[in-house]
Order: sequence, then structure tokens, then C-alpha cells
Amino acid sequence: LLGVAVVAITCMTIIALILTLVNRQSAELSYSTQYGMVFDAGSSHTALFLYQWPGNKENDTGIVSQTLTCDVKGDGISSYVANPSGAGQSLRECLDIARATVPASQHSKTPVYLGATAGMRLLSLQNETQSDEILKEVTKTLQSYPFDFRGARIITGMEEGAYGWITINYLLEGFIKYAFDGKWIHPKAGTILGALDLGGASTQISFIPKDPVNDPQSAFALQLYSYRYKLYSHSYLCYGKDQALRKLQAYLQNTSRPSSTVNNPCYHKGYNLTLKLGDIYDSPCVVKPTPYDPLAQITFLGTGDSALCMSLIEKVVDVTNCSFYPDCGFNGVYQPPVNGEFFAFSAYFYTFDFLGLAPRASLPEVNSTIDSYCNMTWDALVVEHPNVKVKYLRDYCFSAHYIMVILIKGYKFETNWDKISFQKQVGDTDIGWTLGYMLNLTNMIPSDRPLVVIGVQN
Ligand code: AMP
Repeated sequence: LLGVAVVAITCMTIIALILTLVNRQSAELSYSTQYGMVFDAGSSHTALFLYQWPGNKENDTGIVSQTLTCDVKGDGISSYVANPSGAGQSLRECLDIARATVPASQHSKTPVYLGATAGMRLLSLQNETQSDEILKEVTKTLQSYPFDFRGARIITGMEEGAYGWITINYLLEGFIKYAFDGKWIHPKAGTILGALDLGGASTQISFIPKDPVNDPQSAFALQLYSYRYKLYSHSYLCYGKDQALRKLQAYLQNTSRPSSTVNNPCYHKGYNLTLKLGDIYDSPCVVKPTPYDPLAQITFLGTGDSALCMSLIEKVVDVTNCSFYPDCGFNGVYQPPVNGEFFAFSAYFYTFDFLGLAPRASLPEVNSTIDSYCNMTWDALVVEHPNVKVKYLRDYCFSAHYIMVILIKGYKFETNWDKISFQKQVGDTDIGWTLGYMLNLTNMIPSDRPLVVIGVQN
């Protein structure tokens, strides 16, 4: 009898052990880390962002983090007009890295999106067949990987602005917050930040104004965790910093004709740049001169004149015209007065960080730093910054002045200058539209989730 009892107890122990193991394994499986990724196909380059979150907490806030970023080699996908399949090929290296990073068991559950921004918006205005062809090729490549491909498309400027705003406020827990007493709470009004994004081809501003948005074209209504937000969001196509520079170059080239050299006060003394006219005018953002020879050359001679640079930029960015509305941003576009704190990211951050002005500096300090930088000779600059790429180093003077014209004269931040913080990341996660886009498309910010009490046990 004792023998039977020992065998029975041993069997039961083994069965219990097996059951515990099976349970633990299935719990681990259902709680295993989930992944999602988004390609930001910008005008000047493409980057991949891979995100992760604990699988049992999909709809919680602030739990998505960035696992890796990967910069795609080469220029933006809109530059592949002559070789559309090259656009698809260019993504492979980053996709291979993502495939090696995400555990194989999660590949088929990992959503992948590609969003193209203003570079592709411009190309589709110029030649829709070409932009469709490029999107087809990147789609082919993305579909050839074992991930859950959810689409490659050109996102609108309004989406780009609104998703950047969602990213910032999600990361800062502005929508919903886990309080000490174990409740999810809606943070106080005033903790939501505005978003300022400066790309190569477009620039976005998004914030919650004090008063209702008067223009339906720039009103973006969102419901997040049961709360309604009425966002003002506007994207200025052609006002990214690279397109704005083309406008300045076109203005200077026009004033110099028929000469093939012209002074450029935004370039440093001693720096000269020769371009083909096609490099300037092959864009819907600038008006082509007549007659126009795309192969003819123009040389810009840097004069490093900070004040003149600023006043020329004011000529190409119209900050005076505001005929239809009581308040405007620039170029006659409706904009209610700015309200609350803002994060300025992307090229706003790159430029101000390089100049030592991030995350914050007073207006007089900003102005004097920009003046000293612009007035430096090219030779002195190159010696001081041997490791900075020439294409960035030569443009920081223009970019810094352009930023000031937009922020002060355009958006009218003069009296709220101290409300802007120039930032690249929150924690280890980059600020940009990609995270907001993924959170929205994967329904990770539910619109109708009531604020619930959790963690309370009877
Ligand atoms: P996009 O490709 O549209 O996102 O544009 C980003 C802009 O930032 C482009 O004008 C780039 O040339 C510029 N940019 C990117 N990295 C840097 C950097 N490290 N310093 C200065 N500008 C940069």
C-alpha cells in the first residue's frame, strides 16, 4: 500500500510540475515583448524606427520604447526617380538588422509601415506616375520580409503634424497618467505640449489653442482615452529648410542675371558654391526663370553677412501678408496665437544643438550666437569643426536665421520664446511623427477607453 501511495504522490508531483511549466510558458508567450516598426521616408533621407512594448500592456500609456533606429544609406526615396527599384533595395540593410533584432517567433506579428513625407508630396505633385512607381517598389521590398506589412503611403502634412504632437504627449504622459493611488488619471490642463517640426521640404506646427480653431482646414479633432482634443495643425509645404534655401538661391540668381556669380550673405566668407540651375529650380517650390537652361551654372560667393542674410530670408518667407484672418502664421495662413509650452525637433534641434543653444537659450543669446557664427570665415570654421559634414556646416547660418524668421516673425513666439524647448528625444525615444503614427494605426491609444481604477483588489 505504501508503495502505491509513493508512486501516486510521485505521479501527482510530476503532473503538477508539468502543469506549472506549461502555465508559465503560456504566460510568458502571451506576455512576450511585442514589436512594431515605421520607416520615416523623409525628403533628405529615410530612417527606420523599431519600437517594443510588453505584450500584456498594449493599451497602457508610456510603455512603448524605441529598440533601435537605422539610417538608410543614401538620399530620400523621392531621389530614386531614375531608378525606382533602387528605392526598395535601399531599405534592405535596415530591414535585415530589424529581422535579426526581433525574435523569429515575433516576425509575423510585427507590423511594418512606411510613411513618406514632403519630398514625396512634392514628387507626386510634379509627376504622380513616378511617385507611384517608387511606392510600388518599396512595397515590393517590404512585402518580401517576414513581417506584417501594413502599407507604404504618402502621409498628409496635417497627419505629420498631428502624429508628432501625439508622440510628444504620449511620451510625456500628457494624455493619461498612472497616479500613486493606483488610478489612471487625466493630467491637469496645460500639461499638453505643442509640436514644432522642421523637415527638409515642409514644416509643421501643432498645438491646442486657447480659443476654437476658426479654419476647418487646420482643425484636427482627436479623441484619446475618452478625452477630446481640438488641435490646430498646419503643414507648410515648400517651407522645409532645404526648399527654403532653394528659394533664397533662386532669388539671388534672379537678381544677378545675366552674371553667373552672385554674393550669398548666408554663406561664410571664403566659402563658394557652384550649382547647376537644375539643382535650384527642379522643384515645384521655385518658379523657373525664362529663359531657363538647367545645365547653366551659378556660383555663390559667401560674404558672411549675418544681418543681410536675415533680411533676405524675410523676403522669401512672406511674414507680412495676413488679409483673410485676424491672426496668421506666415504666407497668409491662418494661425491662432500660440499657446502653452512647445517642443521643437528635427532640423530645429539639429541646428540649435550644433550652435550650443539647445534645449533653451535666451533670445539675446540666440541672436548673438547666430551673428557670431555667420560672421566666422569658412577657413576658421573648418578648423574648429573638422568632423562636421560640409553640407551641414555651410548651411547652419542660413538654417538658424530661417528658424528665427519662422518662429519669431512667422509663428510670433517673440513674447513666448521661453516656452520653446529644442529637443531630440524623450528618454531614449526620438521625437517625430513615426511613434504617433504607429500608436494610432495599431489602436494602442484607444479613443473610448474610460479612465479605470486598476490594482485594487477586494
Ligand atoms: P527630412 O529628411 O525631411 O526629415 O529633413 C530633415 C532636415 O534636417 C534636412 O534638411 C536635413 O538635411 C537636416 N539634417 C539632418 N541631420 C542633420 C544634422 N545632423 N545637422 C543639420 N541638419 C540635419
